[in-house]
Amino acid sequence: MQTQGNNMDPWYGLYAARTAGLSASEVRALFAVASRPEVVSLAGGMPFVSAIPKDLLTGAVERTVRERGATALQYGSGQGMPALREQILEVMALEGIHAGVDDIVVTTGSQHALELVAKLFLDPGDVVLAEGPSYVTAITVFKSFQAEVVHSAMDDQGLQPEALRETITRVRAAGKKIKFLYTIPSFHNPMGVTLPWERRMEILEIARQNDILVLEDNPYGLLYFDQAPPHAMRSIEADGVIYLGTFSKTLAPGFRVGWAVAPHAIREKLILANEAAVLSPSSFSQTVISEYLGSADWKGQIDTFRGVYRERRDAMLSALADQLPTFSWTVPTGGFYVWLRLPDHLDSKAMLPRAVKELVAYTPGTAFYADGSGRNAMRLSFCYPTPDFIREGIRRLAIVINGELAL
Ligand code: PMP
Repeated sequence: MQTQGNNMDPWYGLYAARTAGLSASEVRALFAVASRPEVVSLAGGMPFVSAIPKDLLTGAVERTVRERGATALQYGSGQGMPALREQILEVMALEGIHAGVDDIVVTTGSQHALELVAKLFLDPGDVVLAEGPSYVTAITVFKSFQAEVVHSAMDDQGLQPEALRETITRVRAAGKKIKFLYTIPSFHNPMGVTLPWERRMEILEIARQNDILVLEDNPYGLLYFDQAPPHAMRSIEADGVIYLGTFSKTLAPGFRVGWAVAPHAIREKLILANEAAVLSPSSFSQTVISEYLGSADWKGQIDTFRGVYRERRDAMLSALADQLPTFSWTVPTGGFYVWLRLPDHLDSKAMLPRAVKELVAYTPGTAFYADGSGRNAMRLSFCYPTPDFIREGIRRLAIVINGELAL
């Protein structure tokens, strides 16, 4: 069966059908362009890891090699290091989650947890409900298991409960099987918005009534700028929620350490799937992180990140107000992203080459939908460039957009 690629690829006819969804995303292509130093990239979601003082980590790395090398350099448990899992409990308690050390499965970033959950639950033709828009690489994972991603509408307070009810009814009326709802309730990627407490309760109730599992992805919850967001959905409901956390945003993504918290039966299968995929998550990374959490002021470091990102968010919002005063955008109270809405007739994907010519990059809204929606929106990331670069980037973006409007 011919599924993917083109005739230049000698293996074209051999790929599995599931690879059809693995076409290079807009985001990937952008990374190449936007990494040129003269381009202000508002496209990627790279954490500003230079904000971590080097000696906070060098001690942890050195102790890992010198004192804990026998285990840190060895294969480990498919569930992850018990000592690190204990510390993860402390991290999650900050978001109201109370779990046991055995409830946690350490994964290779939360990205791999997404892959494992998809592998456990998705057969071809199954439906995954997701916010519209949703995290691009989660959509890619679900599609790679030949699931259909059905988006449900959001507003500036996240997923709309009423729309979710209607989406479930519509999907079921079409005879399709819904496996889970994938949601990013706090500082959403890509919209930047946060689901209020009452909606969290309501959405969990809808999921319960409809026997739908909730997959709660929470990489940004601790990166709030003023007030903490409402507690995680997993803090309300333990049985019907798989919760994903990560050290990628509160420490550094290079470690590739995240985790899943899942109800007992699912957790056992997750551990087996983790072993089948990687034998054990990196012992070295887990040990360094465990040393770091045990010795450094990690809460203070998260505070430092909050300050850095708050300043960048402020720079972006004030630049947008100066440069594009008649447009609308979301106002994130944490995380990395602003969602900018364009007039209906503008197409952010078609505009991108002109933006790159003006030396600014962003992610077109279409990247965050499985169904081609999102043309008249874009995601702007404020996590990586300095405030001055952000202001310059928005100035260049306004030139491009105003040029389009003048056509
Ligand atoms: N989920 C969301 C919503 C994300 O934004 C990201 C990273 N951009 C991930 C998961 C993956 O994070 P990691 O694998 O680094 O933990």
